[in-house]
Amino acid sequence: MNEEFLSEAMPAARDILAAGPICDACLGSAFGRLGHGWSNEERGRALRVALAMAGEQGNAGRCWVCQDVFSEAAAWAERARQRVEGVEFSTYLFAVKPTLRWQEAEAFFVERFRLAHAEPQKHAWNRTVGKAFETLVGHGTVDFNDPDVKLTVDLGAGVVELAIASVFLYGRYRKVLRGIPQTHWPCRRCRGRGCAVCGGTGKQYPESVEELLAAPFVRAAGASAAILHGAGREDIDARMLGTGRPFVLELCEPRTRTIDIEALGREANDEARGKVEVGALRWASRGMVSHVKETAAEKTYRAIVEFGDVVSPDALSAALQSLVGDIAQRTPRRVAHRRADLVRTRRLHSASGAMRGEREAEIEFHTDGGLYVKELVSGDEGRTEPCLAGRLGLEARVSELDVLGIVSGEFPDAHARAMDSRSRVP
Ligand SMILES: [Zn+2]
Ligand SMILES: [Zn+2]
Repeated sequence: MNEEFLSEAMPAARDILAAGPICDACLGSAFGRLGHGWSNEERGRALRVALAMAGEQGNAGRCWVCQDVFSEAAAWAERARQRVEGVEFSTYLFAVKPTLRWQEAEAFFVERFRLAHAEPQKHAWNRTVGKAFETLVGHGTVDFNDPDVKLTVDLGAGVVELAIASVFLYGRYRKVLRGIPQTHWPCRRCRGRGCAVCGGTGKQYPESVEELLAAPFVRAAGASAAILHGAGREDIDARMLGTGRPFVLELCEPRTRTIDIEALGREANDEARGKVEVGALRWASRGMVSHVKETAAEKTYRAIVEFGDVVSPDALSAALQSLVGDIAQRTPRRVAHRRADLVRTRRLHSASGAMRGEREAEIEFHTDGGLYVKELVSGDEGRTEPCLAGRLGLEARVSELDVLGIVSGEFPDAHARAMDSRSRVP
């Protein structure tokens, strides 16, 4: 027994004990910040014994501060154990929603006895339940920042709430078939409820890159959903070839966290063959989501362009050369309904191409991220300046568009040349 601690705590402990029935955990928590390597229960018990030897017996009965909630910690730990049955985790964290009565009693307790070294009882409770839980499940360590599972004991409602943290994967995808959106779109008619137009699916398009790519991962992880966070998105009618597009796949509420991402990537490629390919997979953190979404990557596009009149190869070359530089773009009409209408300047780094017949060309553009290539070609009724149509003095429009490269040193696989197999694609 620590003499120094006892002599420091005894006078206040004597007052507390005389005031009404109190449990060891609450008595000990009153001096929690004095430390000395004891648990609150041990500290409270030591004080009670020392006071009994000095002739102070205290009162029997239900603890007036916590209503004996500390003695119920083991039962709550068992409920929490049942809650995580079948859920894989290695780290956990407990939280508690105390009853108002407990909160008020604790505040009064601290104030009444001027407890300068009291530990907040919520902390003590979470630690107590956590230790009991860890013993019951036989594994797990507490993690205050990013636990796999967070268990919230709601004392008023009498339930344990379970929140399972998402797992995140980084990778790149290629979309080798046109007409597939990146993420699933709710049906415009029914907004996702299901109607005759969408055949009851609630979806505007039958499949998406997100669904095609995520399916095996969702099954293996027992996830409730998957969210594809892309480094930008290509148009639905554009292919995504070349290096592929970086993404982070978020698997929500996974029941299994240790999945074989290489094998699942192969499974996804088998199931989505001819539509979507995935590669360069690796584990990622939640922080990678915003990193991937916000990285300003340069893009390379291949466009098939149709002209309103005959164009000579020399005229094409001259027009493309003269376009290189800053392009001022007002938000295109086709996206104006969902984007703010403003003028942005993006750089066209290079442009080169060749005629395929008299009125059609194949052109490669290398641009800043965010430059709209279809409008760079057509001019979008004067909203993009300069534009290819304007330079040639005739109508021009993109009939096919592919994204060939998305490049930034900021991506985790920037130097790995991920999926760079442009030649494989038709
Ligand atoms: Zn108590
Ligand atoms: Zn519908």
